[in-house]
Amino acid sequence: MTTVKKRFIAGAVCPRCKATDRIVMYRIDDLDYRECVECGFRDEMRFKPGVREIQTRVNTPQEQVASETQVVRLLNPEAKEKKRREERDQDG
Ligand SMILES: [Zn+2]
Repeated sequence: MTTVKKRFIAGAVCPRCKATDRIVMYRIDDLDYRECVECGFRDEMRFKPGVREIQTRVNTPQEQVASETQVVRLLNPEAKEKKRREERDQDG
C-alpha cells in the first residue's frame, strides 16, 4: 500500500464546512490535492499548468531584444544632436 504524505495547512478554512486547520494537502502523480478531514471535502489544486503557460509567454527573447533596441534608438538621436551642437559651437 502506498502511503501519501499529508500535511495540514495552517489557517486554511474548509469551503464546505468552514472548519479551520482541518485541511490537509497531499500530492499524487505530480498533482496537488487538498482535503478536509472533517467533512471529506476534496479538491484538486490546478494552479500549475497556468504557471507554466505564463513562463512560456515571458520567455520570448525576440520581444525583449526589440524593446532594448527601441531604447537605444530613442537615446541615440539626442546624443548625436548634442554632439553636433558642440561641434557647431567650436566652428562658430
Ligand atoms: Zn470540511
